[in-house]
Amino acid sequence: MDTASWMIGDVKLTRIVEMKAERFPHWGFRNLSLEDVRAQAWMRPHFATEDGKLRSCIQSFVIETADRTIIVDTCVGNDKARQNESWNDLQTSFLDELAAAGYPPEGIDTVLCTHLHVDHVGWNTRLVDGNWIPTFANAKYLLGRFEWEHWSQEAGDKRNGEITPEVADDVMQQSVVNADSIQPVIDAGLHELVEPYHQICEGISLFPTPGHSPGHVSVSIKSGTEQAVITGDMMHSPIQCSLPHVASNFDYDTKQAEATRREFLSQHADGPVKVFGTHFRHPTWGRIVSNGDSWVFDVKDSDAC
Ligand SMILES: [Zn+2]
Repeated sequence: MDTASWMIGDVKLTRIVEMKAERFPHWGFRNLSLEDVRAQAWMRPHFATEDGKLRSCIQSFVIETADRTIIVDTCVGNDKARQNESWNDLQTSFLDELAAAGYPPEGIDTVLCTHLHVDHVGWNTRLVDGNWIPTFANAKYLLGRFEWEHWSQEAGDKRNGEITPEVADDVMQQSVVNADSIQPVIDAGLHELVEPYHQICEGISLFPTPGHSPGHVSVSIKSGTEQAVITGDMMHSPIQCSLPHVASNFDYDTKQAEATRREFLSQHADGPVKVFGTHFRHPTWGRIVSNGDSWVFDVKDSDAC
């Protein structure tokens, strides 16, 4: 079990990790070498191994306010047929761990997917008697309007940037993901299409961070004097703070993704905002700190707790 919780003012934020991985950089990135990773000494030990593999995870965050319980991104999920064999037909104890952390599925009132990729929508549904049913039966599922309109039309031919094999697979498989993880939620009448700037409740809002996917959003948490952001896949690894041009194999528009990262990094550099990375391993959050004409992800405060 790998859960942890933090307080952002009066808001409780909890991570539930579904799986962890150590992978060579080419698995996830188009333009990142082993030497590039080894050269960023600050990435070790939390986010890279000595030999230059990137350490990542797939996790959900639960945001608990005085009157709302929101799950942000729902990982890969169980029983799903996936091309990536490490994600295919999973049988994890994710829901038990969620419940053990104090969040049984029926207590979640809002599901927010930062975007609609396979590793962010999986637990939207679960398999019961051969049917995909919404896991969070009492929740409203917030889907980005633009994001859903794009993926439901399979608009792969409108991409900017190189079509890597990974991107091609991703486009091919989105129809499968839609069918088992999104359409059942819509059929159950539990979804709400939202705009890129959207206030979920007091202190919790969405803001657009496009590039990785067309309608990608990140989450802002403000309570008292404290602020945090959940990145989604605006960044996949903290190494993209130092090397913002590094593009995920799964980015829809690499140029836009880089521009989004640079804007976010310069806006939050040397400030108080706690940045929680959706695919970042423990300690999960850090602060953006300037480093010459680039940045690093500083975990000295988070590492202590
Ligand atoms: Zn992802």
